[in-house]
Amino acid sequence: MKLLFLGTGTSVGVPVIGCDCPVCVSPDPRNRRLRSSLYVEAGGTALVVDTGPDFREQMLRHHIRRLDAVCFTHSHADHVFGFDDIRRFNTIQDAIIPAYAVPGTMDDLMRIFDYVHRGDPVPGVYRPRIDFRVIREPFQVGAIRVTACPVDHGPKPTVGYRFEAGGRRVGYFPDCLRMDAATVRQLQGLDIMILDALRHRPHSTHLTVADSVALLQSIGARQSYLVHLCHELDHAATQTGLPPGIDVSHDGLVCNLQ
Ligand SMILES: [Zn+2]
Ligand SMILES: [Zn+2]
Ligand SMILES: [Zn+2]
Repeated sequence: MKLLFLGTGTSVGVPVIGCDCPVCVSPDPRNRRLRSSLYVEAGGTALVVDTGPDFREQMLRHHIRRLDAVCFTHSHADHVFGFDDIRRFNTIQDAIIPAYAVPGTMDDLMRIFDYVHRGDPVPGVYRPRIDFRVIREPFQVGAIRVTACPVDHGPKPTVGYRFEAGGRRVGYFPDCLRMDAATVRQLQGLDIMILDALRHRPHSTHLTVADSVALLQSIGARQSYLVHLCHELDHAATQTGLPPGIDVSHDGLVCNLQ
């Protein structure tokens, strides 16, 4: 299984428009963060988690030319507003692309992007061709077994994903305030766990770095990464304070699990 961090930033990205803070003006490329998204590949199958506003840029940057599915964590703007650009993959692959989401998230996707599934095509209009699939149980995308796990991230229904392929297991939870004990149990035995860590100061819908580290330690993956970071976190300074086996992710980071 191969993982590629397409984006590791919070909803406004880093740098933030109009901000001159040390992280936003930093020359360290690891402090430039597109909106959070993950590419997962195994056994010839490729999927992405979320299509945020930077989806097009992320596909171009990494020369991605095939997607077998898109899995959505929730319907916040920073995770869905690149949805329309899925249509290029319809064209390249000459195929309908499946989009997976849990019921409340699917309702939002079908409302926001109602023109995608409405049955009144105007000739010549270039729209995504999507098979909207509501998640009710674990499912298979080619070689990848996918399980959606609910987390607390404010009022919107939100999930993270557990991916399994070739005996390797990965968790991706970019937006999370709290996780119940059942989910923590479900995530035992992971090779890699990726978890929300917005900043050091508390936030009403995201984990702090300290709370994220504590949760990661209770999950106990072989290797863990912090993601969905805001401009209050300098990459190098944040990394310095972390225990072994927990690292700050950055855009373009690749993990190859053999
Ligand atoms: Zn987010
Ligand atoms: Zn800033
Ligand atoms: Zn969110």
